[in-house]
Amino acid sequence: MASTYLCAMQVLNGKETAQAIKDSLKIEVAQLSSRGNPVPHLVAVLVGNNGASETYVASKVKACQEVGFKSTLIRLEENITELKLLEMIRELNTDPDVDGILVQLPLPKHISDDEVINTIDPAKDVDGFHPNNVGRMVLGQPTFVPATPHGIMLMLEHYKIETKGKHAVVIGRSNIVGRPMSILLSGAGYPGNCTVTICHSSTVNLKEICQTADILVAALGKPGFVTADMVKDGAVVIDVGITRVPDASKKSGFRISGDVDYENVAPKCSYITPVPGGVGPMTIAALMKNTFRACAIKHYEDQGESIH
Ligand code: NAD
Repeated sequence: MASTYLCAMQVLNGKETAQAIKDSLKIEVAQLSSRGNPVPHLVAVLVGNNGASETYVASKVKACQEVGFKSTLIRLEENITELKLLEMIRELNTDPDVDGILVQLPLPKHISDDEVINTIDPAKDVDGFHPNNVGRMVLGQPTFVPATPHGIMLMLEHYKIETKGKHAVVIGRSNIVGRPMSILLSGAGYPGNCTVTICHSSTVNLKEICQTADILVAALGKPGFVTADMVKDGAVVIDVGITRVPDASKKSGFRISGDVDYENVAPKCSYITPVPGGVGPMTIAALMKNTFRACAIKHYEDQGESIH
């Protein structure tokens, strides 16, 4: 049922915001080249034929082309051994032509995500998953911040959303979204300075906790999980969820669904992200920023400058 909240609700347009970021990156890439440096080079490694992973990697490669980066997609058979994959990553680590390495997750069951992540050179870990980079993020030091929470922070900044002193509730504690999100929102500075509650599958009274959120980030992967009765009037709602729901009316046979019951929640919010067109494009823009950073650090530091 629609709420009686009367303030204007604003949709956080991830597509437009991501485009603005990519446009300014394009200019920075041109400046980097004009100093005689090669353009950033992202290598994406895709193991197997997971449909969703194929789509994500294709969007990343397309974004590289848009901003003027070089990109390479390495496709590997589902049955590649962990040893072979690690060997390949070590080669990419030492290749001076490669600035950023991303290995698309999830990996087949016989390969350990941790082993793979730990093998990527932290200086090329543009996903920000390596323990060194996670540690730096926790300590508030400059680093590669995982793309999805980074993209959300960029979105909050772009729309100048007040975060200081707000109660942020994050649903989900994964290493790639929920946990880093909670750390960034609780950090000093802007966006940040929130009081954060992180919820997960063992949280008791989730609904009551969500009702106290000024900023609610839903990252659990359960379509329509956040309903209007869980959301406070005027809340900022960030929907990270991307689930393929079977839909015979679509050519693809599925539609993408977020974790928020958008239709009923949106009227209560001050700001809300749509799915698709919200967090997804911001994730890709943040990955492009990380890749640019990896390249710029390498080349500017070679020239005796620092970009930290
Ligand atoms: P995950 O499966 O690794 O983690 C889900 C988290 O949700 C877990 O920490 C779990 O404890 C929690 N959870 C599950 N059921 C719950 C419940 N009933 N109540 C409270 N907490 C519950 O997922 P993930 O990788 O963090 O991804 C979450 C969602 O975000 C997925 O839909 C994924 O596709 C999407 N995603 C989107 C982007 C993007 O760019 N938009 C990027 C990454 C992930």
